[in-house]
Amino acid sequence: MAIERFPHLEIKRDLREAVQTLCSKFSLDYWEEHDREHIFPEDFRRAFADAGFSGVVIPEEYGGGGGSLGDMVVILEEVAAAGGALNAASAVHLPQLCIPSLLTFGSEEQRRELLPKIASGDLFVTFGVTEPDAGTDTTQISTRATRKGDGWVINGAKVWNSGALQGDKIMLLARTSTPEPGQRKGLGLTLIMTDLEADTIDISPIPKIGRNAVASCEVVFRDHPVADAEIIGEIGQGFYHLLHSLNSERLYIAAEVLGMGRWAVENATRYANERVVFDRKIGMNQSVQHPIARGYLNLLAAGQVVYQAVAEYEAKGGAAVGTLANAAKYLASEAAFQAADDAMQVFGGYSYAREYHIGRFWAESRIQRIAPINNQMILNYIAERSLGLPRSY
Ligand SMILES: Cc1cc2nc3c(=O)[nH]c(=O)nc-3n(C[C@H](O)[C@H](O)[C@H](O)COP(=O)(O)OP(=O)(O)OC[C@H]3O[C@@H](n4cnc5c(N)ncnc54)[C@H](O)[C@@H]3O)c2cc1C
Repeated sequence: MAIERFPHLEIKRDLREAVQTLCSKFSLDYWEEHDREHIFPEDFRRAFADAGFSGVVIPEEYGGGGGSLGDMVVILEEVAAAGGALNAASAVHLPQLCIPSLLTFGSEEQRRELLPKIASGDLFVTFGVTEPDAGTDTTQISTRATRKGDGWVINGAKVWNSGALQGDKIMLLARTSTPEPGQRKGLGLTLIMTDLEADTIDISPIPKIGRNAVASCEVVFRDHPVADAEIIGEIGQGFYHLLHSLNSERLYIAAEVLGMGRWAVENATRYANERVVFDRKIGMNQSVQHPIARGYLNLLAAGQVVYQAVAEYEAKGGAAVGTLANAAKYLASEAAFQAADDAMQVFGGYSYAREYHIGRFWAESRIQRIAPINNQMILNYIAERSLGLPRSY
């Protein structure tokens, strides 16, 4: 699709083109096969790291590219838009999630040891917060780290830990104490980064309906030992350390779904111009044109909000963009799923044939209305913080 149809594509155009060049080596069939066969896209991940993209937001002194959040936002949008959708974006995105916590709350020793390896792609860190009985309400987690000798032992279960089959380490949130009555609910949780390969950890993939190249797993800890050196930041403050990086995560997700929505609109448009039914192109029907046009407009608007949020983030810092970052994630994820769903209708029966790829975008764009935070919680946030309505949860 012509770049001028989405004005935000002018932002960091050279970087976009570099990512597109790399992604063009991985065809739609590559992604279809990896998704169908549940194969992690290791060669894509490696090529991506070798090109220097994995460490873009890591400062140069820790082996990274010294770039900005906006660079990674552009990278993730283009990765998703190139046809790999969320399978591709997740392979790149997952190890990024621990970077803000390490940079801000990690010790100098942890930064020097871990960040250069993340930048080079030699260390894949997954993110373990969700538990069977604690999804949206993170403060309810029960995985516990208990003092034992001069270290700790972890017991409990995480679910949906994406990338656990490939991951070298997991950054998890564990309970180290229980808040006293009247204390803040988020107190007593601690961030820990520990090796995933251990005989005290069991990992089982959860069969799921999409994004199958990147497994999400149940991860069970049975007296798993950790040292003090594996704790990131202050004991008992892990929940608040994570809040610190939420807005960057919202923007990464928003960019990914924006890219996926672009792909859906682009391909629905192409197909509507090609497919002939009743002796004319199906794109001559307004009932085919209008949903595609609406999808384009919704994504156009979402793109403006995403990059306005990025600009504010870069100018004023992450804490200043709560409303815009939440708005960006909400608008982009709703627009992208609607665009993919409408594209399914345009493709008719062929939408269900894997070789047309649209089904992958449909299933994968659906996830981002639920995870990492569901859009109802975003509306709760906007209602409370932007509109002054009572807190509802
Ligand atoms: C493919 C995939 C990958 C994932 N990867 C990871 C990962 O790598 N690491 C990780 O830690 N987690 C991961 N998750 C988990 C994800 O973050 C959770 O699924 C998400 O936080 C929602 O939690 P839940 O599924 O327990 O939903 P619940 O908390 O059970 O909520 C269910 C639904 O109830 C509604 N709801 C709940 N509370 C409210 C409220 N107060 N107001 C309005 N509506 C409400 C929402 O609609 C919500 O969707 C992943 C999930 C998926 C599907």
